[in-house]
Order: sequence, then structure tokens, then C-alpha cells
Amino acid sequence: MTEEPDAGLARGLAELRAALGERRVLAPDDPAAGFVRDERGLLPSRPAAVLRPRSTEEVAAAVRICARHRVPVVPFAGGTGLVGGAVPLGTGRQVVLSVRGLDRIRSVDPADFALTAEAGCVLSDVQGAAEAAGLYFPLRLASEGSARLGGAVATNAGGSNVLRYGTTRELVLGLEAVLPDGRIWHGLRSLRKDNTGYDLKQLLIGSEGTLGVVTAATVRLAPYPRHRAVALLALPGLAELTGLLALAREVLADRLSALELFSRTGMELLVRQLAARDPFADPHPRYLLVEATSTRDPAALAAQLDELLAGAVERGLAADAVPALDRPQAQALWALREGLPEAEKRAGGAVKHDVGVALGSVADLVAAAEEWIARDFPGTVVNAFGHVGDGNVHVNVLGAGERAAAVSALLYRLVADRHGTVSAEHGIGVLKRDALEYTRGPLERELLRTVKRALDPLGIMNPGKLLP
Ligand SMILES: Cc1cc2nc3c(=O)[nH]c(=O)nc-3n(C[C@H](O)[C@H](O)[C@H](O)COP(=O)(O)OP(=O)(O)OC[C@H]3O[C@@H](n4cnc5c(N)ncnc54)[C@H](O)[C@@H]3O)c2cc1C
Repeated sequence: MTEEPDAGLARGLAELRAALGERRVLAPDDPAAGFVRDERGLLPSRPAAVLRPRSTEEVAAAVRICARHRVPVVPFAGGTGLVGGAVPLGTGRQVVLSVRGLDRIRSVDPADFALTAEAGCVLSDVQGAAEAAGLYFPLRLASEGSARLGGAVATNAGGSNVLRYGTTRELVLGLEAVLPDGRIWHGLRSLRKDNTGYDLKQLLIGSEGTLGVVTAATVRLAPYPRHRAVALLALPGLAELTGLLALAREVLADRLSALELFSRTGMELLVRQLAARDPFADPHPRYLLVEATSTRDPAALAAQLDELLAGAVERGLAADAVPALDRPQAQALWALREGLPEAEKRAGGAVKHDVGVALGSVADLVAAAEEWIARDFPGTVVNAFGHVGDGNVHVNVLGAGERAAAVSALLYRLVADRHGTVSAEHGIGVLKRDALEYTRGPLERELLRTVKRALDPLGIMNPGKLLP
């Protein structure tokens, strides 16, 4: 016998209160539930309740009850996601399950270069735990002080170190998760090699809460890169970008950890909105931030970076270059790149995009986007910047107003023409859901739905996210 939907919800909530305790099932108007909202303020958030389990077993009990009463579950971690994935949809029938109470670092194993932590651990705390053991957790995001491990796994977070260490996919060795029927999958292995069939953890990584609740992860650690060399190069134009990226890889090889592009538009925004200091005497069309790191021999590292700067200027790939001579200068150069989202916000906000193409197509995509958007949408300003070493660019557009959807459609067509992706690292959530079809064809979308149906036949895990 099936229940009336709202009777099911009421019964489910009563059972959840009995299983977790009253204080762990917050009513939506409870001030303590206020953290469940869309950071960007683009979506309303009306949960039926906010669940706050403290252990994997409590998560499993809660999901089992929700499955029994067909109550949709929205996993929630740091709430820093940029595509509305952690926001409950509709008018108050979905419960939010916060994993913030699962916040223990379970183990750090230096011999194995591995760390196991629960989903609610703040990323900067995971980094700190690795550092305390003399090791390095390479996931670095501007949101690392608030984003949690579970959210990073669920969104396959990228960040500024992907070039050297890969995305979260490459960093996760094992997972523990609660499946949509409430069973616990114990997959916390720290194997580097395991060829025993489908890689189940990879299905959950980047699934944005649609296939289960990640409760803990074992992640790969690296030797601590104690030495850092940073420089900002000024480019004569976009035409030089591909050559410069190749030269940086050749000279710095596996010490190269970041290549971040921004434009004159970005520099002007920084100067105007954040009173930043332009390190160059003259204006330049583009800037490339380069970072290399090493575990030893800082002099050799600095010499390698100098070789890159000299080579770039000599070959005409850079018009000028500023190396950071000490840590504060390195931080000041990084602050330029990291200040861009805030500068956009202060300038009135932007339509944000997070697209990706093959390395050799980045310059072409940015040039085409700037040209077409200026022509078709007069009065807008394109601020293109991002992790260009990974082919990932944020082609953000200021001043689009009501034309936001049309601007995005034009950009996504340009990306699709170049066999790119409409979301290189932020995910799909609800805000990018309609964009998925630009770069994922009918067969791929059908396969995605097949996976979803196989793992979540009742469709209770974060419905309405990722898949239309
Ligand atoms: C200033 C700023 C800078 C950022 N920079 C980057 C960047 O450089 N690179 C990048 O990739 N992202 C970036 N982001 C986006 C965001 O920080 C990351 O995606 C982050 O990993 C999200 O983690 P969270 O804990 O906040 O997740 P949330 O926002 O809470 O959730 C994100 C998604 O994951 C799901 N989810 C959360 N926890 C779980 C769980 N335990 N199990 C299953 N599903 C779960 C949610 O349902 C939702 O769909 C940035 C965001 C901000 C605000």
C-alpha cells in the first residue's frame, strides 16, 4: 500500500526524530537550520527538515527511513557549491541531510601517504592534519575554509593544484558511503592499484549527492612542497598563450603546479574594485600566473623559473615578467588571481561560466567568446580567467542583465563546437542542468540515467539535480 505523499513525510519525520533525537531533526524555521541556504542567493531553500546525524550509522538509519517513506534527501556539506546542488527544490518535501556532524579525522598514515577523514571535515582541517604529519593534501580551493570533504568528493572539486596533482578523482583512494536504500558501502581502501572490475568509488565522486551520501574518504597525500616559486607574466596577446603553456611545461616539468590566466579587464577590475596594485608599469592584454613547487633545493627551483621567464621574453611569448622574491610577494600575486570573483561581485556581479576545452583550444575559445559576446550583446564586458593549465576558463560576463540566458547559450555553443565541457569543475546541480545537453549527447545522457536508476531506483537521492 502506498501512502499519501504528505502522510509519508509526516510519518518519516516522526521516525527520524525518534531515531536521531529531536535536536538532530531541525524544523526549517529553527535558527540553527539557517546554514542551509544558497550561498549565491539565486535559489530559495525550503527544506522539510534539516537532519544532523553524527555518525555513518545515523546517516544510514536516516536514509533508510527516508527511503521507506519516499522522502527525498538532499546531502549538504559546506554549502559552498556554486550550482545549487545542496539546495532543496520545491515547496518543502525534501529533507536536507547535513554531514557536518561527521567531522573526525580517522587516521593519518605517513607510511601509506594516506589520510582517512569523515565527510564533514572542513578542507583546511584535512590539510592541517596532513601537514601535522609533514605531508600535503593537495586539494586547494578559495573555499577551503568552509567547503567539506564530502562536498569536495561529491562535486569532484578541482582548484588551483589540478595541473600537478589532479582533481579530487585522482586524490581519492577509497570511500565509505550510505547508498540510497540505507545500506553502508565500506570501500575505505588505500590501494594504488585495484583492477577488480568497475570502480565504484568513481561513480560516487562527482555524483553531486544523486547516488548516495559520502560519509568518509581515504585520500592520497603527497610529500610537502616546502618551496614555492611564483611569477606573473604579461602576454602581448592570446596568440602567445599556447606556446607559453608548452614552454612552462617543458622548463618546469613536474614541478609546475599552477598556470592561471586573467586579462586586462580583470586587472582593471582588481585595481578599481579592490584597490589592487598592478605590478607592471604598462598595461598588457593578458597575464599568466605561474607557480612551481618542490620539496627541496629552492635555489634550483628559482633558477628554473628564471629560465622560463627569460625564455618567454626572448621568444616573444611574454612582454614582461615579475618574479615574486619572497613569500609576501608570492601571496600578493596570488591575491590578484583570487580577488577576481570578489572584484566582479563589487562591480555588480557577473553571469558565471566554468567551461573547459583542450589546452590547444583555450586561446581560440576565449578570443571567440570575447568577439561574439561583444558583438551580440552590446554593453557587456567579458572577464575571462581561470585554471588555464587544465583548459578550464571562467568566461564571466558583466552587465548582461536580462540577457544572461542568451549569453550562456552563445558561450555553450562555442564550447560545444570545440568539443569542450559546460562545467569543468563546479558541477551541474540545478543551475547548469539545462546546459548538460550542449556537451553530453543523447547516448551519454541515457547512460547517466541508467546508472542513476540502478543505484537509486526510488529516485530519492537529490532528485532534480544533475539529470533533468
Ligand atoms: C569562493 C569559492 C571558490 C571556489 N573555488 C572552486 C574551485 O577552485 N574549484 C572547484 O572545483 N570548486 C570551487 N568552488 C565550489 C565549491 O567550493 C566546491 O565545489 C566544494 O567542493 C563544495 O563543497 P561543499 O562542502 O561546500 O559542498 P556543498 O555545497 O554542501 O554540496 C555540493 C554538492 O555536493 C553534494 N554533497 C555534499 N556533501 C555530500 C556528501 N557527503 N555526500 C554526497 N553528496 C554530497 C550536495 O548535495 C551538492 O550537490 C568554489 C566555491 C566558492 C564559494
